[in-house]
Amino acid sequence: MSTSLLVHGYEVVIGFETHAQLSTQSKIFSRASTAFGAEPNTQACAVDLALPGTLPVMNKGAVERAIELGLALGSHIAERSVFARKNYFYPDLPKGYQISQFEIPVVQGGEVSFFMEEGKETVRKTVRLVRAHLEEDAGKSLHEDFIGQSGIDLNRAGTPLLEIVTEPDIRSSEEAVAYAKELHKIVTWIGICDGNMQEGSFRCDANVSVRKPGQPLGTRREIKNLNSFKFMQQAIDFEVRWQIEELEDGRKIQQATVLFDPDTGETRAMRTKEDSADYRYFPDPDLPPLVIAADWIERVQAEMPELPRVMTTRFVLEYGLPGYDATMLTQ
Ligand code: ADP
Ligand code: MG
Repeated sequence: MSTSLLVHGYEVVIGFETHAQLSTQSKIFSRASTAFGAEPNTQACAVDLALPGTLPVMNKGAVERAIELGLALGSHIAERSVFARKNYFYPDLPKGYQISQFEIPVVQGGEVSFFMEEGKETVRKTVRLVRAHLEEDAGKSLHEDFIGQSGIDLNRAGTPLLEIVTEPDIRSSEEAVAYAKELHKIVTWIGICDGNMQEGSFRCDANVSVRKPGQPLGTRREIKNLNSFKFMQQAIDFEVRWQIEELEDGRKIQQATVLFDPDTGETRAMRTKEDSADYRYFPDPDLPPLVIAADWIERVQAEMPELPRVMTTRFVLEYGLPGYDATMLTQ
């Protein structure tokens, strides 16, 4: 790697977890509407409320959108994936667990590539993906609408999400923003997500660590829910400076989940990080394994638009455009 990317002698290492809300009309395991902005609790049915005796039923449209993402990113689409219960208590999670995928996700591997300006050169960067898995969103706790009380809105409970997880391949805040913009472009281009960041349809968590070149990975802190590209860059820049100062002062970084406060421009620890063991994952007995046959993948592929990277390559090869211009034309 080039020394120009070092910050005060430290290499920055970032991995991303992005929650893309899928553009289905109904929820991932129920018939309730996913439309944004409705009166609280008017779009939460018995399944979303976790009433006893209700059972989840998989939304086929959510699976198709996962297949589309896998095809767009060159991933392996698992012929058989498994839903798991991720157990935790939260007032806006009435079941006491979130249905997610753990050991066997539906989308495995793949990559996101984009161009960046480095000095006078345009360089191509590639970020490898670990996985993308289907899961349901939780409800919302409203702390500001009532004095001395919190409200619970379960309209968002059961909204379909794809969580897209990268390898720790990102090396600067600029690269992080370029990655997030490219992923945003892809999910909106293929139409699996409306990409509305203000409404929370596309939320990024940045896992950030620093290390001296050649050293093993440092301890990371995870900045939660970055919902604008501007805040993303500010938050990571602040976090990197903070971590380097801590290390230079002889302190150790504690693994933690942090929040970015746009008013102060600072990140602040929210809780110490839980391990996957804390969630007591186990396969959800209410849902059979998700089986995706090759002919289903073919049918989905046949309906997809030409992808930005395919179009970019075509513009370069057929029209002799520079890579950067071709990328701009396919934004
Ligand atoms: P968890 O299950 O706790 O979320 P994962 O191992 O799945 O942890 O990693 C979550 C994200 O953190 C991934 O995007 C991964 O690339 C990234 N990551 C892991 N270790 C580091 C590190 N030392 N520095 C920066 N990012 C990291
Ligand atoms: Mg995580």
